[in-house]
Amino acid sequence: MSQKILIVGAGFAGVWGALGAARVLDRAGVTAGDVDITLISPKPELQIRPRMYESEPHLMVAPLLPLLDAVGVNYVEGSVDEIAVRDKTVRVTSASGETRSLGYDRLLLTSGSKLSRPPIPGIDEYAFSVDCMEDASALEEHLKELAKLPDSSARNTIAVVGCGFTGIEIATELPKRMRALFGPNSAIKVVVVGSQADIGPDLGPNPRPFVAEAFKSLGIEAVLGSGVVSVDAGGVRTASGAHIEAHTVVWAGGMRASTLAAQVSSRLDPLGRVEVAPDLRVEEAPGVFVAGDVARVRSDDEGHDALMSCQHAMVMGKFGGHNVAADLIGASVLAYSQPFYATCLDLGEWGAVYSEGWDRQIKLTRAEGKTRKQMINSGNRSRRIIARCRCPRLTQSRRHPVPDGKTPNNHFSTRRYHVGPISDSRSSTPERMER
Ligand SMILES: Cc1cc2nc3c(=O)[nH]c(=O)nc-3n(C[C@H](O)[C@H](O)[C@H](O)COP(=O)(O)OP(=O)(O)OC[C@H]3O[C@@H](n4cnc5c(N)ncnc54)[C@H](O)[C@@H]3O)c2cc1C
Repeated sequence: MSQKILIVGAGFAGVWGALGAARVLDRAGVTAGDVDITLISPKPELQIRPRMYESEPHLMVAPLLPLLDAVGVNYVEGSVDEIAVRDKTVRVTSASGETRSLGYDRLLLTSGSKLSRPPIPGIDEYAFSVDCMEDASALEEHLKELAKLPDSSARNTIAVVGCGFTGIEIATELPKRMRALFGPNSAIKVVVVGSQADIGPDLGPNPRPFVAEAFKSLGIEAVLGSGVVSVDAGGVRTASGAHIEAHTVVWAGGMRASTLAAQVSSRLDPLGRVEVAPDLRVEEAPGVFVAGDVARVRSDDEGHDALMSCQHAMVMGKFGGHNVAADLIGASVLAYSQPFYATCLDLGEWGAVYSEGWDRQIKLTRAEGKTRKQMINSGNRSRRIIARCRCPRLTQSRRHPVPDGKTPNNHFSTRRYHVGPISDSRSSTPERMER
């Protein structure tokens, strides 16, 4: 009977994990009959979460089945709601409510994160978000509906709650999107509301003047130092008692790790991430590794922890995939390491600010920064992402044959898949320049 590797989640970490595991097995000449790799997620698609603040979010998804098929990875559609680490099984529930149990020899948990919504009155009923394709599409539909209403101050105002990376990116993108929908001369207004005294509290001092300049040039107002205490159909109320009239509220208040984290470990950080060993293993759950937004681990020798970011999720996924497969077949596992760190913050029509290092040394701003951001996102980010996944000699033993006439009909041409050596993570190619 074949041994089983299960990967839970098809985000950046899960997809790279699947490719990384397939690569190890392929290189070791292990056939699909000896070791099965199965990826489980609610939908067979990779959502490009970092681009959900843009218009047309429904286009920011990439189908996964052709890719998985080409590298010999099985796919199960459904949500994992229980991980029994003692029995080494997971329970998967399909969209129609059917459940099944799947056993594993090694598990890579990459179930990611979700926008954190604190228990504030009205938040679930009235606040939109750009956390995933479904949420971002709901916001877009709402804005299209608003465009049909008569011009009014509340219709033309959007309150963005949260002044971290996501809050800044959606706020600076909105003026362009609103003008496109409401008309070029409409008196649009975007107000960013934050409980802290500074915009971008985690950004550090270097990028902040550029964010302030972008806000000024785009006419974005910042209401800082007073958090939101309630959301209603007409806007938000802040702790200081002010009511900001807005027909649209976008919540961008930070992310929290998937609740599956708590099922594999009792050692969670304040964001709900599993504290993992350097090889991404969960010491108290034999055979379980964790990568991406759901893992907390050191990324370098200077004491920096990986952030909840694609930048870290992709590389961690590669290490996680390598390690689950290597551990299973008795090959060497690797300690995760990702010393290079960069940030590219989109600032709408003003441009973007690109920095390198944990102290965010500014390298590019305005139009030059934007060119870098567009290069990172590159029209179809998924295409670039997949293009970097090299499975160089994927042998027929691991690859499912593609039946005649079933050539993958999209940008996931099998010839372009390459996972690349893990040491790639240390080079400084623009593709990794993310927050
Ligand atoms: C608007 C926005 C902008 C961003 N901008 C940037 C940026 O510029 N740069 C950057 O580096 N990062 C950015 N991020 C953060 C980045 O998107 C995340 O850090 C990254 O997606 C994490 O990847 P992941 O694979 O760990 O998790 P996710 O992308 O969250 O993927 C998790 C996967 O697990 C699946 N899953 C969840 N629960 C279950 C379950 N119970 N069973 C089975 N499957 C499950 C999900 O469906 C999904 O497929 C941004 C995020 C947002 C929302």
